[in-house]
Amino acid sequence: MTIQWFPGHMTRARRQIEAKLKLIDVVIELLDARIPLSSRNPMIDEILQNKPRLVLLNKNDLADPEVTAQWVAYFAGQGLQALPVDAANGNQMKEIMARCKQLMAAKFETQLRKGIKPRAVRALIVGIPNVGKSTLINRLAGRKIAATGDKPGVTKGQQWIKVGSEMELLDTPGILWPKFEDQEVGMRLAVTGAIKEELLYTADIALYAIRYLCAHYGTSLQERFGVEKLPEDPGDTEAVIEVMEAIGRKRGALLSGGRVDLDKASLTILRELRAGKMGRISLEAPDETTTQ
Ligand code: GDP
Repeated sequence: MTIQWFPGHMTRARRQIEAKLKLIDVVIELLDARIPLSSRNPMIDEILQNKPRLVLLNKNDLADPEVTAQWVAYFAGQGLQALPVDAANGNQMKEIMARCKQLMAAKFETQLRKGIKPRAVRALIVGIPNVGKSTLINRLAGRKIAATGDKPGVTKGQQWIKVGSEMELLDTPGILWPKFEDQEVGMRLAVTGAIKEELLYTADIALYAIRYLCAHYGTSLQERFGVEKLPEDPGDTEAVIEVMEAIGRKRGALLSGGRVDLDKASLTILRELRAGKMGRISLEAPDETTTQ
């Protein structure tokens, strides 16, 4: 399901979105609320030009509400409206429609003065793989439309889906690539499960996650796994490995001889983190992000 991006794919994905832009009024840029910048396409502003845009911070059910509020302010500072949503639960669907309509209000008003009746707002959803595009399309449509795991470059006839009486949505989303050449971005994407684990060592991904958790969500880590001692310096790799071992012991991930099976412990940690078992956790905040 994860797409391997090559320069040809990127060019084609970009052209497909640019062709769709001509048909629509508003772009819905879908990001992962836990990693809004790492789940963002590095060329997004260039690709979308000046199309009115609504940013959705999806999987908000898994993200830290305080950090999400900081992100909303961050995007506002860039002149972009950002709305936290859970596409999977389907809340905020009415608000998405209202915001899209709002983005077109001035244009429709001008048209109305010229005697042109406002029509439905036409929207396109764009985002990187696994961010929740298909889930959102299905939610907005109120029925199953989009197959998950669409591939860039695979063209099929596109159709408008009615969303209420005032909005229409293109049934195929625009699929964009992340900024994966940045190692930190790659790690964050891997922690959330957005990119294939086989591309990186599971233990490295888990270590990255534990280091971040120790620095920002130490209490959650202690409560979930009964970790007694957190490293004083989360940059101390050995101390972070000790935390991983403590988690492994707690979960019974042991090899013969009683050593901790670090691969198994890593998988457990990542699985529980992704399922929200440690509470709502964000993996990047505006003030600590150096990318973009
Ligand atoms: P796409 O590749 O962008 O079309 O992503 P999908 O719609 O296939 O979603 C990828 C995964 O994220 C699926 O397992 C969805 O169930 C999950 N997902 C989508 N939206 C949400 C959400 O709001 N919260 C949570 N927890 N999971 C979500």
